[in-house]
Amino acid sequence: MAARKKLIVGNWKMNFTVHEASIFVHKLAGLVTPKKNVEVVLAPSALALPTLGQQIDHKQFNLAAQNFYWRDEGAFTGEISAHQLHGVVKYAIVGHSERRHVFGETDKDIRAKVQAAVRNEIIPILCVGETAAEHTEGETNAILHDQLIGGLANLTSEEVAEMVIAYEPVWAIGTGDNAAPSEVGETVKAIRRQIAHLYGKKVAEAVLVLYGGSVTSGTAGDYLTTVGIDGLLVGGASLRAEEFNDILEKASKA
Ligand code: PEP
Repeated sequence: MAARKKLIVGNWKMNFTVHEASIFVHKLAGLVTPKKNVEVVLAPSALALPTLGQQIDHKQFNLAAQNFYWRDEGAFTGEISAHQLHGVVKYAIVGHSERRHVFGETDKDIRAKVQAAVRNEIIPILCVGETAAEHTEGETNAILHDQLIGGLANLTSEEVAEMVIAYEPVWAIGTGDNAAPSEVGETVKAIRRQIAHLYGKKVAEAVLVLYGGSVTSGTAGDYLTTVGIDGLLVGGASLRAEEFNDILEKASKA
């Protein structure tokens, strides 16, 4: 596969007040030199999106939503829709393991969200990944198969080709127990085989596949130089400006 742009996404989860987010981005902007071969995406809390949208240089950073509801509008107290996020974010994370496991989101919910994102011209970053028990039992590829079919059903090949898949083993998220890059490389190959089976080889080659799970500046380079891995979804390390910048530097050299 020809070398292409790396995509690095920082998922801030439920961290930073709006004020803190703004100060953090100011610091990060001072560190990050624009790179033609790396796209940097920040996923702050929904509250900080409008402020950061005004603050950032869109040539330096793009924004992602961490979550949204699949209906476009209506009586859904407390929710934010992809329709409302249109024009505010370029990407949206869908089916993060914390959404699946803490908030009980099912493949059916996730499928509806992927479709809502696409309908509202937001690029979905669909997260898939197995639990520790499933990993031990050797069920990783079967679980990913179900999550891919569950999340992608009803999309056209063109729509799938333009989206992002993030392989995030549940046992590696926030634990410090990152998956071995060689194993991730094999799993990413399996993901592309499954996409090829469902949507054809061209789509499987076009879709971006990221790795996420306890990535640090020390381990980032090993993933970014593994064939088939197009970038990273970074949680904890994205909250440390210098370390996140180091990861971006590794991405530009990969
Ligand atoms: C994540 O939030 O998607 C993630 C991978 O977190 P961490 O890097 O902290 O494991």
